[in-house]
Amino acid sequence: MSTYGKSLNILLAFIYNYIKEVMSMRNKNKKNDDDKLLLVIIILLGFIIVYLTVITIYEDRKIGVDNETSINNNEGKDVTYDEYVYKEDLLTLGYSHNDVLEIEKSFTKDEVKTYLLEEKYTNLLKFKESKYFNIKNIKRYQLYFDKNEYTEENAVMYVEIGLDNEFYSNIKPADTSKGTLILVNKYYSIDENYDANLETLGDGYGKGKMNKEAAKHFREMVDAAKKDGIKLRSISAYRSYSSQKSIYENYVKKDGQKKADTYSARPGHSEHNTGLAVDINTASTSAHFEKTKEYEWLINNSYKYGFILRYPEDKMFITGYKYEPWHYRYLNVEIATKIHELDVTYEEYLLMNK
Ligand SMILES: [Zn+2]
Repeated sequence: MSTYGKSLNILLAFIYNYIKEVMSMRNKNKKNDDDKLLLVIIILLGFIIVYLTVITIYEDRKIGVDNETSINNNEGKDVTYDEYVYKEDLLTLGYSHNDVLEIEKSFTKDEVKTYLLEEKYTNLLKFKESKYFNIKNIKRYQLYFDKNEYTEENAVMYVEIGLDNEFYSNIKPADTSKGTLILVNKYYSIDENYDANLETLGDGYGKGKMNKEAAKHFREMVDAAKKDGIKLRSISAYRSYSSQKSIYENYVKKDGQKKADTYSARPGHSEHNTGLAVDINTASTSAHFEKTKEYEWLINNSYKYGFILRYPEDKMFITGYKYEPWHYRYLNVEIATKIHELDVTYEEYLLMNK
């Protein structure tokens, strides 16, 4: 029997006995009848009020317990005191009851305890929808999202790329085991001893040397373009670490470091240092290479030879470089084709395929 039923039984038995006693008293002593009747009514009313109050409190508590149970019973998890504690904490941080239910569904108890009790992350559940979401970086997502005008999805993506770090901060050595797929940018660098495996491009292909595999594909591309009436040549390909160093230092002298960093790479951070990049026909913004038929040909065909436009327009916040319509990077035919189809930067592609 429930507590509710028990207490009702006890109360009814008590009232019954009390009325019986009063009725027998009434028979003995008739002159006080009216007073006694009034007293009985008052006492009964008192009991009813107390009883209703107790029942109301009991029922409220029961509803509260049911809610806790429904939160705790997701995916058959056990109800524990610890979980009850962090739910209270989440509510105190300002999450709604529904948010707490979603958080319970989406994160483990340890994740909540480790990452979510410090502050309220307003966009937490939206960030969570991104396939790149990693709870460890929740604070970075929220900070980056609040500072910029990106969607939650892009904020997560850009933080996962590492873009919430200033360029040339948090620098790591590039993974040289990746061969022609090596990532070199303002976060990843190679050192002076990097073996670029070079060969000269040769007559009819313009200046310089490239990585052997890249050079072969570059020559194939130039030959194919020629058949379409398009003239392509290298004006700058491989640069040694030391030549990059003197180029960069000259630009810093001329324009200051901040400006120089937008168009020239620091030594070890240039794709030209890897032998995998080539500047085609020009390297000057004022030449407006993007308006030429040579550019149009490259955009439509370079991926077939393993090359991508490495620094597209409006992607400076990802690549760290302003638009360079002349700069092409060799990866390989397969990956360049995928990047061409997805229309993304190499950084984005790497994250998508992590
Ligand atoms: Zn270049």
